[in-house]
Amino acid sequence: MSGNDLNVKIGFEIHQQLNTRKLFCNCKSTLINRDPDFIIVRKLKPVQSELGEIDRAALQEYLKGKTYVYEGFYENTCLVELDEEPPHLPNQEAIDIAIEIALLLNATIVDEIHFMRKIVIDGSNVSGFQRTAIIGLNGYIETEYGKVRIPTICLEEEAARKIREEKDRIVYRLDRLGIPLVEISTSPDIKSPEEALEVALKIGDVLRSTGKVRKGIGSIRQDINISIGDNPRIEVKGVQELELIPEVIKYEIERQKHLLEIKEELNKRIDKKSFKFEIYDLSSIFKNTKCKILRKALNKKEVILGLKLKGFAGLLGKPKDKIRFGKELAEYVRVRTGIKGIFHSDELPAYGISEEEVNAIRNLMNLSNLDAFVIVASDNKRAREALEVVYERCLKAFDGIIEETRAANEDGTTSYMRPLPTAARMYPETDIPPVKVSKERIEWIRKNLPELIDQRIKRYMSQYKLSEELAKKVARSEFFKFFEEIISKYKLQPKIVAWALTDVYKELRRENILVDEKKYEEVFELLNKGLISKEAIPDYLRGKFKVEHVTVDDLRKRISEIIYERRDYVNKQRFKAIKGLMGIVMKEFRGKIDGKIVYKILEEELKKYLNEGR
Ligand SMILES: [Zn+2]
Repeated sequence: MSGNDLNVKIGFEIHQQLNTRKLFCNCKSTLINRDPDFIIVRKLKPVQSELGEIDRAALQEYLKGKTYVYEGFYENTCLVELDEEPPHLPNQEAIDIAIEIALLLNATIVDEIHFMRKIVIDGSNVSGFQRTAIIGLNGYIETEYGKVRIPTICLEEEAARKIREEKDRIVYRLDRLGIPLVEISTSPDIKSPEEALEVALKIGDVLRSTGKVRKGIGSIRQDINISIGDNPRIEVKGVQELELIPEVIKYEIERQKHLLEIKEELNKRIDKKSFKFEIYDLSSIFKNTKCKILRKALNKKEVILGLKLKGFAGLLGKPKDKIRFGKELAEYVRVRTGIKGIFHSDELPAYGISEEEVNAIRNLMNLSNLDAFVIVASDNKRAREALEVVYERCLKAFDGIIEETRAANEDGTTSYMRPLPTAARMYPETDIPPVKVSKERIEWIRKNLPELIDQRIKRYMSQYKLSEELAKKVARSEFFKFFEEIISKYKLQPKIVAWALTDVYKELRRENILVDEKKYEEVFELLNKGLISKEAIPDYLRGKFKVEHVTVDDLRKRISEIIYERRDYVNKQRFKAIKGLMGIVMKEFRGKIDGKIVYKILEEELKKYLNEGR
């Protein structure tokens, strides 16, 4: 089945940090990597929403009973981040940039900006909520696949960053809290993984076109919503690399398809009502087991409990399958109880668990060929909790896909993170007065909109005759302005300058060499004077190659001297002498001037000498 037959719907939520001071105080938006100046400790309380119902995701976090530790720095954390002082008036520069982005995305700008409070359930905001305001409505972007609607563009405050998570506490750092963040939400108009990548690239280009967004790891984050037909929606968080977007979506479509197949098969096999919570103490079956994990648990006086899974045989998956329901069960158990692993019958016998032990379990549970089981080892209470989690998840498998928030992994797969937060989590922020947006302000921003990277790419192709590939690279690079400066300053081939600023830059960065504009300026000046060849650019930037007060004239003078000193040899060998001469010249000039240039001048001087001698 292709994506379209399945009616796949994909939407983005893109978060981009702005390169200004913080949104509700005057602190700098810098991240700091050293020991904090101070810490504060809080315990999260579950928040009653206005409807009086406790957000289910908040409740789940609360049940984990975590303590939250916040690390702060005097230079970029004030009483606002600590929630000890009300927010200041919103940062007008950040509002202007958000309006600029909304206009570039063809949105209508609101007349009045109203900040709202959005409940935050994971402790990443000291106050327990995040402030957010709609800036633009009903925007869209065009891609070669068609139009993708952007219903809202919001300006909000960034959350604190998670430093580490321990058993019963989470450590956050307050340096990131309050950095202005633009949130761009698309409609689920995207139909394929390839289109999704195109949309992410386009929106990323629009953001970078402003020149006013933060760069580097974590400064832009894309969450992807993926659903099949009318089935519930899955939110995938934390896709870092753009290249991973199609991979993650493909995996998620396959996973959701697999859940639909399991649903169909399960309902064919048994009636959901007959799927009961049935647990067994298996400790005695394993009293002489060779399975190290179970052995260790028994030595610690823990128990081994098993859950009968009626109708699930073959549906949990073999270890070699990339997508397997057994892995999902293990993820649920890990997130909800902290227990690291479970065993299930589709993967047994293995891990030291013998066929006899498996058969003993099947007899004890009275399993048919269609039934499966799960084993967990822990203290009695936690083991039971884990099996309750497995049971609940398996029960939901009869209904197919369930909505949830998943985390993107580096290998393009996804893992269960938490339930999808329920709606109705917003209420007005009374500490911040509404901000009127005048028509004049919008028009002024509209008149000064930047050149879009898209347009820049086209301009580079026609103006500088760059290939599309190179034009894209340099137009998207942080050096694009510098590139244009260099081209207008020196008589250099644009494609060589573009190559040096993109491909060479990337190559050197992989070697942990960071080249700045000053260093580039040096190399372009030498190139312009003919003191270095284009091939020598990478080595020069590596510092392996020094041009030390040697001018072409100096070199030419010395070469003609060397030819004269070796005139007997040259007269005999004629032009063939160039090889030997090259060695002699390079002995003197190696590392000081580019070999290609030495050869060129030697060739000229040698020809001159031989012609004159005739
Ligand atoms: Zn502050």
